Amino acid sequence: MSPLLEVKGLTKHFPVSKGVILSRLGETVKAVDDVSFSVEQGETLGLVGESGCGKSTTGRCIIRLLEPTAGSIHFDGTDVRKLRGRRLKAFRRDVQFIFQDPYASLNPRMTFGEIMAEPLVIHNLGTRREREQRCKEMLEVVGLNPEHIHRYPHEFSGGQRQRVGIARALMLRPKMIICDEPVSALDVSIQAQIINLLEELQDEFGLTYLFIAHDLAVIRHICDRVAVMYLGKVVELGGWRQVYNDPHHPYTQALLSAAPVPDPEKQRQRNRIILRGDVPSPIKPPSGCRFHTRCPIAQFPLCSEEEPPLREVAKGHQVACHFAKSFPIPV
Ligand code: SF4
Repeated sequence: MSPLLEVKGLTKHFPVSKGVILSRLGETVKAVDDVSFSVEQGETLGLVGESGCGKSTTGRCIIRLLEPTAGSIHFDGTDVRKLRGRRLKAFRRDVQFIFQDPYASLNPRMTFGEIMAEPLVIHNLGTRREREQRCKEMLEVVGLNPEHIHRYPHEFSGGQRQRVGIARALMLRPKMIICDEPVSALDVSIQAQIINLLEELQDEFGLTYLFIAHDLAVIRHICDRVAVMYLGKVVELGGWRQVYNDPHHPYTQALLSAAPVPDPEKQRQRNRIILRGDVPSPIKPPSGCRFHTRCPIAQFPLCSEEEPPLREVAKGHQVACHFAKSFPIPV
């Protein structure tokens, strides 16, 4: 069976428009460069990496909030990049988005009911009474009181607002939801509640998730497979056990070594890998392997001249590193 979502060679470059010199030189920010992955029906793929690695841009390109520079996106057998007008609108009914900031993503002048009914209004679905009924049902599904339908976002906490954001995404009964850092703006205690809610909803509605996050602990909890991104590229992709228990790419190893574990004894024994330097500019990413300026095991000139392709190190586990097999660093 073909995957629900298939992304091949996705590329998004933004022209640099600030400053006369840079724009004249035709500089571009290479936010996403030749990214490929697929998501099966009912599974959760995590996209993880530091800020600015291109994970959110990837999510926005998939739903065509941003127009990709190159590459192909197929959803349920349809070429998403060719969609226009009504067919694009229908696609957006099937693929919904949950935004990171529940404070900024809900219009403060609209009641919860108006916010949630908006997708139904845009798609011309149901009568006013039916929409109100659907909003009440959905508020209950996400663990809120249906009577909150007439209340405004400022009357609620971040966690409650994010529940409304989730309810809004569910109103059109989508097949897939792209969750863009849905818990990173919330308190730790609330994060677990929202993650649990998303898991319950996945079972109830048969949803497929693309889950974007920088927090490896969150990804581990909810994802079936994980794609690690660095400077616009996927550097490691595999089942979450493969990536967490047997990371091959030095960047994944460094990220994992920095993620705290709940057992104080294990935490004390861990060997933290400190990466030197800052993330290079995506305007002029390093040649060869983009990670070579910070990699603790880089070999020159190979790493600075030749870009390593994603290759399989085990079934379903791919790594973009020339020394993925021969230089495993224990985490
Ligand atoms: Fe490090 Fe070279 Fe592997 Fe890149 S290809 S991760 S620089 S060892």
